[in-house]
Amino acid sequence: MAVDATQPYDDQNVFAKILRGEIPCRRVYEDEWSLAFHDINPQSPTHILVIPKGAYVSWDDFSAKASDAEITGFVRAVGHVAREAGLVAPGYRLLANTGTNSHQEVPHLHVHVFAGRQLGPLLA
Ligand code: 5GP
Repeated sequence: MAVDATQPYDDQNVFAKILRGEIPCRRVYEDEWSLAFHDINPQSPTHILVIPKGAYVSWDDFSAKASDAEITGFVRAVGHVAREAGLVAPGYRLLANTGTNSHQEVPHLHVHVFAGRQLGPLLA
């Protein structure tokens, strides 16, 4: 079910639980600011989620409240994941859903990294 991205951060969301180690994930990368792991229901041969470790609902929430170090660290982590997974030459797509109209299901900021097949035109 899609979430209202204007609501306060809910620390019981599934990605908060993954960050606390309460439920497992298939980790791809982790550093001080970010965690990347495989999506449980992949929509492409490679489907990785990259999340900041801080408690942010959405990209706009993150960009308004996070420190410069957090923002830099997260953006670098997304690029690192793409490079280390060998996605740059064949190509990949980044997506960050926010709120009900975009069907955001998990109210913790996440960037989807889709790759491994021809992705087709972007849906509007
Ligand atoms: P959204 O629709 O919020 O942009 O995407 C949420 C994503 O989180 C979905 O692609 C969904 O498959 C993934 N997801 C939901 N629960 C879990 C989980 O427990 N573990 C992992 N690895 N992915 C999850």
